[in-house]
Amino acid sequence: MANTNVQQKTQHESKAEMKQLLHLIVHSLYTHPEIFIRELVSNASDALNKARFQVLSGADSFDADAPFEIRITLDSATKQCIIEDTGIGMNETDLVERLGTIASSGTLEFIRQLQEQGKPIDGNMIGQFGVGFYSVFMVADEVTVETRSIDPAGKGLQWTSDGKGTYSIAEIDKPTRGTKITFSLKESAWQFAEVRETKNVITKYSNFVDFPIFINDERVNAVRALWSVSKDSITDDERNEFYKFLTHHYNNPLGYLHIALEGVVNFKALIFIPDEPLSPFAIQNDHPSIALYANKVMIQEDCKELIPEYLRFVRGVADTEDLPLNVSREITQNSPVMAKMQKHIVKKILDLLEDWSQNDKEKFATFYKHFSKQFVFGVNDYTHREQITKLLHFPSSTQEKNALTNLSDYVARMQPEQKEIYYATGDRLETVLANPNLEYFTRNNIEVLLLSEPADIIALTSLPSFETKNIVSIDKAEITIDTPQENTLPEPIALTLMKKMKDILGERVEDVVASKRLVDSPVSLVAGATSMDAQTERLMKIIDKNYTGGKRKLEVNTAHILIKNLSSKLVGDPDGITLRPYVEQLYEGALLMEGNLTSPADYVKRMTDIMTHATN
Ligand code: ADP
Ligand code: MG
Repeated sequence: MANTNVQQKTQHESKAEMKQLLHLIVHSLYTHPEIFIRELVSNASDALNKARFQVLSGADSFDADAPFEIRITLDSATKQCIIEDTGIGMNETDLVERLGTIASSGTLEFIRQLQEQGKPIDGNMIGQFGVGFYSVFMVADEVTVETRSIDPAGKGLQWTSDGKGTYSIAEIDKPTRGTKITFSLKESAWQFAEVRETKNVITKYSNFVDFPIFINDERVNAVRALWSVSKDSITDDERNEFYKFLTHHYNNPLGYLHIALEGVVNFKALIFIPDEPLSPFAIQNDHPSIALYANKVMIQEDCKELIPEYLRFVRGVADTEDLPLNVSREITQNSPVMAKMQKHIVKKILDLLEDWSQNDKEKFATFYKHFSKQFVFGVNDYTHREQITKLLHFPSSTQEKNALTNLSDYVARMQPEQKEIYYATGDRLETVLANPNLEYFTRNNIEVLLLSEPADIIALTSLPSFETKNIVSIDKAEITIDTPQENTLPEPIALTLMKKMKDILGERVEDVVASKRLVDSPVSLVAGATSMDAQTERLMKIIDKNYTGGKRKLEVNTAHILIKNLSSKLVGDPDGITLRPYVEQLYEGALLMEGNLTSPADYVKRMTDIMTHATN
């Protein structure tokens, strides 16, 4: 029964966004109503983990002797359901900020997009959206939450809501620690008032909860810390279920690692590689990665020290005997135990990925498709750089359109006289392929890695070399293979023309020089003495607003018909007045090709003038 001794009541109104979300949840996510049990039990378990940690670490706690457990009370006659825990409880701020709002602001937008694309949305997804608690409104019209924080200075509070956007909070008497959630089931959900039905749901979704769960005083789960038992005593099914329990996901994981290390540090870990991102919002990393346990007691839900940022897509638990229970954040941040655990975990994950890359290409491809944008930043982890570099894969000019190649295979295919590894960059694959600087490489059958993902560009450009071969942008590459060009302009004329072009372009370019690499295009821009390739320059400008960029060189194809035509305009044009619009147009055209043209209006106007003149 909800407590009736209410002293004062305050009304609250949820934000408009929350109201819309609630509406969506109740009306669209109804396909798995039983999910509400999983979500409420999972919240109770989170709260119990925090309470246990606080009590065991000796902090001052209210109702410190209460056992850590979850009690569900069902009444098949009145259809009332109560879920009660002795967890950490909530204070008023928690009720307003955690229970009354959406954690991730992208949630509503994301669900709307799925709806617009006609993708199925179901109750199974609710936990990932960080709105698990609200699943209770799939089965109840009104919900009462009574809670008392573990903080000795806390007080009993009651929260009630109809799930339509308003809720009220009042002070109550509550002599016990934790949270009690009470509601009457809607007719469509009456089955959950039956012990058997709810017990089934618990066995399916909440079997790994680390605390006893009782339904009407009957114990319904068997607590078993899967990671702490030997690898062979667990079935695949059990492990997969544990993964689903941890992640609130419905697919099996792509792979797993069961680690048991004894020696300098002692720890056990069960770590999963998901088959798709756990957070629906791209690489936000806002989901927990590895939970830290000390002697089977969770002490940190998401221990950042155990896993580097670039591997945070994994999910799992690590349990050690070498840390005291009352370990503080500062200790985990500086502890050599943690550093050793991390090193071992990282090595194991990389070994598994390496094994997939050689023996299970399909698995590796799935991993790479979903997580490479994050993973490639691992090249900056110097301890593991070598192993990570071997796992990098990129699109390439000589491979099939969607195939990716690694650097070892690239090196094996290099031309006999080729000394460097080449790459081209652009904001899209099409832009990269249209880069005139590629022409020379294509003509000479030299393979070029095609980079259009910012993460790929940052990763590859932070590597100076691979297997003693320098990694070089085609914009910067020294052209060594000398293919004789036919029908070029006589050198003196070419030099005069290029000098004039440099005068016209002035400070915008470092120099104007004859090209050895162009085949079909009249000009292209290449890196100057101080600049990086076009795409890196652009990334630099995004990262550093004050970066003005290095100067580039304009290369001229002196065999191109347009360049020859221009040379004939030199006579009688000492000030370059006739030549100027053509030179400007060529230069800006080269910028446009790279996606770096900032003044398209001038470009189009000049184009109109030139065409008007030509059609006169
Ligand atoms: P999530 O669990 O992903 O944070 P929920 O919607 O399930 O999202 O819960 C929102 C928040 O409400 C929790 O993070 C927690 O702070 C609080 N909360 C919910 N249930 C409980 C509970 N039984 N005890 C303590 N806090 C709770
Ligand atoms: Mg939750």
